[in-house]
Amino acid sequence: MQNIAPKKRATPRRTLAQVSVRKPSATFEGLWPSDGEIFDRTCTLCPRLAKFLAQARIEEPEYYNAPVAPFGDPQARLVIIGLAAGFHGANASGRPFTGDHAGVLLYRTLHQYGFASQPVSIARDDGLRLIDCRITNSVKCVPPENKPLPVEIQTCNRYLKAETRTFKPGTVLLALGSIGHNALLRALGLKPTLFKFGHAAEHALPTGQVLIDSYHCSRYNTQTRRLTAAMFEAVFARARELIDAGERRIADRGS
Ligand code: SF4
Repeated sequence: MQNIAPKKRATPRRTLAQVSVRKPSATFEGLWPSDGEIFDRTCTLCPRLAKFLAQARIEEPEYYNAPVAPFGDPQARLVIIGLAAGFHGANASGRPFTGDHAGVLLYRTLHQYGFASQPVSIARDDGLRLIDCRITNSVKCVPPENKPLPVEIQTCNRYLKAETRTFKPGTVLLALGSIGHNALLRALGLKPTLFKFGHAAEHALPTGQVLIDSYHCSRYNTQTRRLTAAMFEAVFARARELIDAGERRIADRGS
């Protein structure tokens, strides 16, 4: 059988002391239920990814190894759109950005701006709650070498499209990377060519939401300093500002 395991890294899997994935618990609290519309835990529509997961179940039986559900508040006014599950992160823990390098900066920043109950995301049963925030991925399954194929992004777009029906006017959509940006626009029925991706770019969408872009908080982007903590924080500060301004408008109308 062809070995489809990801390339082994030269460095240990988890270099930060606080990042260690524990065996998942039986509960899925805070994760979207497998309703078959926004999320389907049994989905195998992408043959390459289904095969990759089947192999992963053999090689890493302690890992979650299935499509990863969106995490957080179903009514959230901040929705973060990432790329795909990471092999040793979301694919291991069963929760987006939990247990991998990208999640370290993301959850620390979410906590800093009041969108998470704690700054560290260790495992699916670590008690972390998102506050007025949800995290979803453009591709729910882990792709080999973190690179989904265009057809896989397109196939998984049906779930993101269903999720967009939960977005209210004024919801702030924060795309991590250009793949998330384009997948989200497609899910909303908008042409990606009309909304150019750029770090900290802000787009008032005709569907009533605001889209803010950020470079992805991946290990590569943070280690090369393409994305610094300050750049990332500025994006979340803007998201917080927009959400608070919307809240003030609603309060003013009610007084
Ligand atoms: S990536 Fe999405 S569409 Fe493809 S198999 Fe996984 S859940 Fe299904």
